[in-house]
Amino acid sequence: MTPTHSSNGRSVSGRAALVTGAGSGIGRATALLLAAEGARVAAADCNLEAVESVAAEITAAGGEALACELDVCDDSQVRSVVAQTVEAYGALDILVNCAGIALPAAFGDEEAWDRTLDVNLKGSMRTIRAALPQLRASDAGRVVNIASTDAQVATPMMSAYTVSKHGVVGLTRALAVELADSGVTVNAVMPGPINTGMTAAIGEDDRRRFARRRVALRRYGEPGEVAQAILNLVLPASSYTQGACLRVDGGMLTVA
Ligand code: NAP
Repeated sequence: MTPTHSSNGRSVSGRAALVTGAGSGIGRATALLLAAEGARVAAADCNLEAVESVAAEITAAGGEALACELDVCDDSQVRSVVAQTVEAYGALDILVNCAGIALPAAFGDEEAWDRTLDVNLKGSMRTIRAALPQLRASDAGRVVNIASTDAQVATPMMSAYTVSKHGVVGLTRALAVELADSGVTVNAVMPGPINTGMTAAIGEDDRRRFARRRVALRRYGEPGEVAQAILNLVLPASSYTQGACLRVDGGMLTVA
């Protein structure tokens, strides 16, 4: 199918997108929003059943989607999912790296460090590396990585996570400079506390207390609110936003 790119660049209609971690939370909301805006979406996650349900939801609403099983730690799977996307859509214009884990662990727990850095940081490096030839070939290649407010501050017992998210910001800035001549933009969003599978284990009272004390908007965010920020970054018209790390945190880091 020939993509029907909008002429003003203010739409993702016809663009081919790959979203990792699309089975849940922010990735799921991003896949649904991009598809609702007309993009053709490969929804990839280590939980195949979850992405099959996302793809079914998109298709039922009249959109185009593909469900792919993907462990971002397995480079051959990463390459295969990129190949599947290109085979289905003939292009890959947008890559959103949402796959992530948050393991509470004491500093020095090397297993937690290895696992966390492998998924959260090297996982994004692998998908970008595999997608790069296609992103370069696009007239508006877009990469969005998901960092966290923990890329600016730190949470106790989350050193591996904090380091991985500082790394995601470093990766974003490094590539933004390295790919400057390619037309590919590389940006990150830094979500604050969002209601997803990752935060589901935190009790409602604790969430409310935290939000009242620490978040300017006094509530957790919803995955769709992060997806909206991601959509803005991947529009073809967002061509001068390069290496940006956008906080989507309800003003959490603005509170004194
Ligand atoms: P989520 O609901 O748990 O979604 C993450 C998805 O990634 C899950 O479907 C998960 O599958 C999948 N995944 C985990 N490891 C993977 C791997 N190796 N390969 C492929 N997929 C994998 O969490 P979320 O909150 O939407 O997280 C999305 C991103 O936002 C993460 O990078 C997270 O660090 C970041 N973030 C979240 C918050 C927050 O408050 N929620 C705040 C700041 C940043 P399983 O469920 O099967 O593991």
